[in-house]
Amino acid sequence: MSSYPNAVDTCRPLDVLGREVEVPLVGGEKVTYAALDYAASAPALQRVWDDVAAYAPYYGSVHRGAGYLSQLSTDLFEQSRATVADFLQLREDDQVVFTRATTDSLNLLASALPAGTRVYAFETEHHASLLPWRGRGLDVTYLRAPRSPEQAVAALEEALAAAHAAGGPRPELVCVTGASNVTGEIWPVRELAATAHRYGARIVLDAAQLAPHHPVSVRELDVDWVAFSGHKLYAPFGAGVLAGRADWLDAAEPYLAGGGASRTVAREADGSVAVEWHRGPARHEAGSPNVIGAYAIASACRALREAGFDALVARERQLIARLREGLAAVPEVRVLTLFGEDHPRVGVLSFVVQGWNSSHFSAALSAEYGIGVRDGLFCAHPLVRTLLGGEENVPSECGAPEASLPGERSLNAIRVSFGAGTPDEHVDRFVAAVRELVTQGAQWAYRTEGGRCVPDTRR
Ligand code: PMP
Repeated sequence: MSSYPNAVDTCRPLDVLGREVEVPLVGGEKVTYAALDYAASAPALQRVWDDVAAYAPYYGSVHRGAGYLSQLSTDLFEQSRATVADFLQLREDDQVVFTRATTDSLNLLASALPAGTRVYAFETEHHASLLPWRGRGLDVTYLRAPRSPEQAVAALEEALAAAHAAGGPRPELVCVTGASNVTGEIWPVRELAATAHRYGARIVLDAAQLAPHHPVSVRELDVDWVAFSGHKLYAPFGAGVLAGRADWLDAAEPYLAGGGASRTVAREADGSVAVEWHRGPARHEAGSPNVIGAYAIASACRALREAGFDALVARERQLIARLREGLAAVPEVRVLTLFGEDHPRVGVLSFVVQGWNSSHFSAALSAEYGIGVRDGLFCAHPLVRTLLGGEENVPSECGAPEASLPGERSLNAIRVSFGAGTPDEHVDRFVAAVRELVTQGAQWAYRTEGGRCVPDTRR
């Protein structure tokens, strides 16, 4: 354990809800839960929870009421927008649209693209950034999985050059994830943005996994839009963000038609209804806004800023080093990577264990150790299949509980992920549990029930 980076600039784990929750093990005893599935949903920051609780009595309708609490809530909603704009270091004319989450944000953007836009996305994307472009009359190019950041940039350059050589100018959009939800690897966003812009294309950054771990500066990365989810940023109150350029969003039909998006609605002489839509964020925020969700995101942005990303990143690097060192000592563990194990990553790592079905292994971590990880294909099927070394169809995300034979290819993977609230002890416990399971095997038999792998307690 000698190779950890210097501890000087790190911080303590941030206070999150659930850090003392005890869960029952299959044998009957209770242990403190080790939440190691941050990449799916991170626990709420205590600070976010406290801010929301303090505001809750003052909750009122937004943009509607004349009363004091309505005005207070409206102000808070708009201030939350400003806080997010500041957090993301948006440009002067950029706007923040509150959505439900990243999936919603990217679908909103897809719905707002000018007709005939060419879209480029790597096949390695999460389904949220892989699928929204399909079936809308857009011209979508999926780029093959690159094996290095340089290959990613070269592949985009080649695709843009080929499209430009073949046809006249068209609106173009590149979609890229900032950090993979499977490998945790950080993508060369700035370089991809520069390449896109050289061809007059725009770029949207899926920051669902990057924003909770790293500062995301729209100005510095020079991306046109960024999307992220509150529930991965320690603010699980049902809101997300799409932030960036206003022009395409203002020119598009509203994402949802209804109150809030419409400025005036009039009945015409011929019996039809004429609508003038708002410009700006309201155009795509029809319906009553999720003020608590937006306020929670703003609170998380403030908390992360105050803790300081330098310290948070330094601490996370220590945890990653600790995890990698621990897993490296277990030869049966194979870490999944596109760019190489030493490539910078956030606190997300997927792996397979030789001789084990991943669902079985994850179920044993939960039932016998109280450790919550995730198994499956992580809504990034093409990427995980590539990393597992097979292209054919995988039967189900849960897999079968039977151990695969030593040396046999796993059908799915295990993902461990953590963040600002994770104590060192959770990573240590995880590594010790992996080692014990590999060397001693599970203490219980497991079976599939309702598509899930569970300990067989019938005996
Ligand atoms: N993009 C990435 C990289 C993700 O990891 C996820 C969630 N796993 C999403 C998009 C979708 O986020 P949400 O489910 O919050 O819409």
